[in-house]
Amino acid sequence: MAKKDLLRRRREKMIQEKGVIYLDNVRKIYSTGSPALNGITLGIGRGEFVFIVGDSGSGKSTLIKLLLRELVATEGAVYVMGNDLAKLKHRQVPKFRRNIGVVFQDFRLLNDRNVYENVAFAQRVVQTPSSEIRRNVPAILATVGLAGKYKAKTKQLSGGEQQRVALARALINNPSILLADEPTGNLDPKNSWEIMRLLEEINERGTTVVVVTHNREIVNAMRKRVVTMKKGVIVSDEEGGEYIDED
Ligand code: ADP
Ligand code: MG
Repeated sequence: MAKKDLLRRRREKMIQEKGVIYLDNVRKIYSTGSPALNGITLGIGRGEFVFIVGDSGSGKSTLIKLLLRELVATEGAVYVMGNDLAKLKHRQVPKFRRNIGVVFQDFRLLNDRNVYENVAFAQRVVQTPSSEIRRNVPAILATVGLAGKYKAKTKQLSGGEQQRVALARALINNPSILLADEPTGNLDPKNSWEIMRLLEEINERGTTVVVVTHNREIVNAMRKRVVTMKKGVIVSDEEGGEYIDED
């Protein structure tokens, strides 16, 4: 076999072994400014729970956007569930994204609709039959502790409740991966803990969970894998790690 083929095979094998997410020497350079990501190699296995921490501007959200295929790497390759994202065609992107649930700091709910509709909408988009939607939505709302709130308008909810709705919406289609970009950034400590406990529960049921956060106390208490970024590179990656102080 030619050396090139051998190398390609070895790389494919490694990607399979490395699991659901693999970034291979990724750089991302926006049209303005210096590289947001500058040589990221990171593998995340099926069923892992990973915190991504680091200063503001270190590239955490850029990394999340690459995994969602909102952005494409400038150099290097991003693999998610066996897909080389640079090779994914535009028309394949919606189907790819069904594998991934996502929550953000600012909830991003449909504020003119009630709780039930916010979650049901995500199922309608993927053409789930109405009878299943009527069964699934109450079940997932119960999972996030919102069983009694399905008729409420999202504006009537507290921040913690709104984030639970966002979490229910992210989970309703049973994604393999859950990405959370600073999900507790707008929450008080009690609600932050509750959301993190829910993320942990979701992970214990088999979903791969990646959480970007600045919450030092929670990271230090939960003892998960912690990937620390600084200026577009990974400066540490520790199992059962802690939030590393700057300088
Ligand atoms: P973090 O989420 O860790 O705060 P980001 O990934 O948002 O970091 O940003 C990393 C770097 O990329 C920062 O220097 C930021 O200013 C820059 N950046 C982010 N988004 C854009 C964009 N759309 N255009 C240009 N530069 C950007
Ligand atoms: Mg960010």
